[in-house]
Amino acid sequence: MAQIQLVQHACGAPGLRWLGLGPDLRPSRSLLKLQRLLDKHAFWAQGRSFRQLRRLLAGSEAVVTLWRGKRLVGFGRATSDGLCRAVLWDVVVAGDLQGRGLGRRVVEALLAGQDCLAVLPTGAGKSLCYQLPALVRQGLVVVISPLVALMQDQVRQLRRHGIAAACLHQGLDLQRRQQLQQGLNDQSLRVLYLSPERLQVEATRRLLEEIHSTGRLVALAVDEAHCISAWGHDFRPHYRRLGELRRLCPGVPMVALSATAAPQVRADIIRLLQLRRPEVLVRSARRSNLSYTMRRRSEQPLAEVLNAVAEARGAVLIYARTRLAVEEWSTRLAQAGLAAIPYHAGMDPASRQLALEHFQNQPRPVLVATVAFGMGVDRADVGLVLHLTLPASVEGYLQESGRAGRDGQPADCLVLFAAADRVSLGWAMRAASQQLSAAERLQERERLELAQRQLRRMEAVAEGPGCREQALLLAVGELAPPCQRCDNCRCHPAAVDWSEPAAQVLTALDGGRGRDLRQLVEGLAKDHGQNQETWGWLARRLVQEELIRESDDGRQQLWLCALGENYLRSPWPLRWSA
Ligand SMILES: [Zn+2]
Repeated sequence: MAQIQLVQHACGAPGLRWLGLGPDLRPSRSLLKLQRLLDKHAFWAQGRSFRQLRRLLAGSEAVVTLWRGKRLVGFGRATSDGLCRAVLWDVVVAGDLQGRGLGRRVVEALLAGQDCLAVLPTGAGKSLCYQLPALVRQGLVVVISPLVALMQDQVRQLRRHGIAAACLHQGLDLQRRQQLQQGLNDQSLRVLYLSPERLQVEATRRLLEEIHSTGRLVALAVDEAHCISAWGHDFRPHYRRLGELRRLCPGVPMVALSATAAPQVRADIIRLLQLRRPEVLVRSARRSNLSYTMRRRSEQPLAEVLNAVAEARGAVLIYARTRLAVEEWSTRLAQAGLAAIPYHAGMDPASRQLALEHFQNQPRPVLVATVAFGMGVDRADVGLVLHLTLPASVEGYLQESGRAGRDGQPADCLVLFAAADRVSLGWAMRAASQQLSAAERLQERERLELAQRQLRRMEAVAEGPGCREQALLLAVGELAPPCQRCDNCRCHPAAVDWSEPAAQVLTALDGGRGRDLRQLVEGLAKDHGQNQETWGWLARRLVQEELIRESDDGRQQLWLCALGENYLRSPWPLRWSA
């Protein structure tokens, strides 16, 4: 069967030589016939190692598809020595796809002309989902992606593998623009990245319509599709306009991709992108080889960070919140004798590329980065992902921590947080919105409130007594049993009765007036002893228990809820570990 399909492919693409390789291909008559057809470009690869394969394919001209029975398990091109690497790369990644199943179904859905929503965790071969259809059909896939720096990284990576790719963004110089047009004219371009902002430019729309009219558009892909939803952790207003794609390119299958999208976000994606009866593929965000640890950051966290890095295997990724913090931390670590490389979006492209290469190629690199770093990085043996502050949202954290242990080996995810992190993050968000116009600010308010709620959820996971993985997954709409690997699962901290201090907090809020968390905590510490940090922690726990309500504007105003009033009338035991 496999061989017959290959012959059909060869017929469907005149002038191209196709070649099938696969572990279960036998030297059957049809294969021998195919070999004769393809003459010297046919190779036989059963049971051969990748190295042998590379030798076999060196200098050849062939398009390679790998089939297992009726299923596509790999794909690559080999037209020169450089492109042999493409074969190996695709084989490795597509092998992965095949093993994980869902990515393969995305490819098959697109090739069958069906829309698709795929929620695949980082490292599950997301980008291959749209690259493969372009290669198989020798057509073009248009990809909408949010950040220029990340698009450029992807383009560079694809080109390294001999696949013609380009990105269209505002900063593109004339030469690149002409190159792009040339690739479109001679039909060699396979993947075109666009930022969502570009779609609002009339020239880009005309370009899309033109491409569509040639019939070469294989699929439209919307990467990081959760950005379309105000419920998502990374809402971008420009994504809202992507529904127009449907009108500009009718009849072209569309795939929406995201690493994490809670059910509410998925519904938004389908509705706003106007996906037609999409195949919805959701892979569990559970990663059974990752161990989460979340603990309070000490006053001097350098030793803690150095220890964690020393214990880690493979590569280490350290996330800091701001560009300044990235610079400071990489310097501090370097002064302590640890070669740590900084990476953030404010660096020039050449230095960013150098940092990227360092991270890809060194045996045990340590990289300090903002969350802008990650996409398009396919280092499998990251043994530690360390966050120096509280992550901004659960979804974001799952994505970032998911860069650890893609090789399936055990890996650690460590968060060092402080109670002040949420406040400073909230301030940073508000300060950013101050620069907007009055009208924009009004729009922004809703988003800020959502961001505050997401921060609070992340803080609740970090401060909570339960299984980290379970709490993280629950926040994105997935039910899972305790992981037995995280810090809380490994050493159950003893539970303490907090009923009395809880009543003291609630009493202080009784009387209907809202109170500032900071004032409240100061007052409680003065009246009842204990340190302010403990009172702050307790107040936040009571918010989680819904005995207290907190304002969503980041000012941490607190009010007593009806449940809190009930508690004061007839208390019940409240036991947590602290
Ligand atoms: Zn656990």
